[in-house]
Amino acid sequence: MFDIAIVGAGPTGASAAIFAAKAGKKTILIDHEKTPIGRALLKNYPGIREINGADLLKTIQEQAVSFGAEWVKVSVSDIRKESEGFVIKTDNREPIQAKQVILATGMATKLADKTGLKTKPGTEPFIKTIFDVDENGKTNIEGIWAAGICAGASFHTVIAAGDGARVAINVISELNGERYVDHDALPKK
Ligand SMILES: Cc1cc2nc3c(=O)[nH]c(=O)nc-3n(C[C@H](O)[C@H](O)[C@H](O)COP(=O)(O)OP(=O)(O)OC[C@H]3O[C@@H](n4cnc5c(N)ncnc54)[C@H](O)[C@@H]3O)c2cc1C
Repeated sequence: MFDIAIVGAGPTGASAAIFAAKAGKKTILIDHEKTPIGRALLKNYPGIREINGADLLKTIQEQAVSFGAEWVKVSVSDIRKESEGFVIKTDNREPIQAKQVILATGMATKLADKTGLKTKPGTEPFIKTIFDVDENGKTNIEGIWAAGICAGASFHTVIAAGDGARVAINVISELNGERYVDHDALPKK
């Protein structure tokens, strides 16, 4: 059983996976590789003057894997609540079990149909529908969270990545029973 399963490995999900795996949570990142970021030439990602979206995303995903996140390339078709967490059904792999789920599915909210997740109209350009979440990223199903574009964040990479991190920290904090902070400091001189 994974502690945290993240559906969607775009900037939101991959960023959430960095924080989840680095916090020592058994983390899986699930994606069927349909992010639009491959078409982007980013000139507004702080700290990087210009980068091809695919290159940036590859670096973020590799960073998540380097902290121990597992990464599978499959499509999630359904998520079912069970007594001890969730069973995530995929198109061509054994179901995946996880205690908590973060949805980071970008423009796709189709999973709402089967799972009973509430949605609402999006307010950002190009985004028709989003998951209905509270200020912490919680959906109407206890244990399922949503972050980034699919949860109403502005359609920008740095904001998506930041929102993935924010919601992951909320999930980690809930699992730990206290607020979590991830800081690394230089060695003292
Ligand atoms: C042409 C173009 C240019 C852009 N230019 C810029 C720019 O200059 N600057 C900027 O800041 N932003 C830009 N963006 C926006 C940027 O691409 C998005 O903000 C960012 O990709 C959103 O990240 P996300 O992780 O929330 O969603 P996404 O990147 O869409 O990732 C969602 C992931 O979820 C996966 N997924 C969805 N459903 C399932 C499922 N059922 N099972 C498995 N996987 C699933 C998808 O495969 C996808 O990889 C641009 C976008 C486009 C299209």
